[in-house]
Amino acid sequence: MPEKISKSDEEWRRILAPEQYEITQKRGTEPPFTGKYYRFKGKGVYKCVRCSNDLFTSETKYDSGTGWPSFWAPISDQSIETAIETNGGMTRNEVMCKRCNAHLGHVFDDGPPPTGLRYCVNSAALRFMGNKEEQGMATREAKSQTHRGTH
Ligand SMILES: [Zn+2]
Repeated sequence: MPEKISKSDEEWRRILAPEQYEITQKRGTEPPFTGKYYRFKGKGVYKCVRCSNDLFTSETKYDSGTGWPSFWAPISDQSIETAIETNGGMTRNEVMCKRCNAHLGHVFDDGPPPTGLRYCVNSAALRFMGNKEEQGMATREAKSQTHRGTH
């Protein structure tokens, strides 16, 4: 079990970019079709932007058409926590990072098999880490380009 991380509101405000703070600390929502990951198809792991806890993998990501990154399962039971959120008569299940309690988004039950769940997450709450192989390829490509440039 990863150690819990807890910081004061003031600390998070200082550490995070305004958009990250607004979403993860103030339970904000980024406008749909604006986040950097909703259409992103790289292979790798999505980590918590605040504490680097592993949250989701590209293998459970799918295009839900909502304009937010959507996943049908978290990486493990250490990834996230959910809580019932009641807001003006509307009840939703809030999704948070289990390690630092960052607000990530919401989970709905209209997802694809095998879970039938849709974890609808804000891009601003995530940090993508590409697989090692992909990173290696990117490095090699960059090198060969540098090489060409010298001739
Ligand atoms: Zn976290």
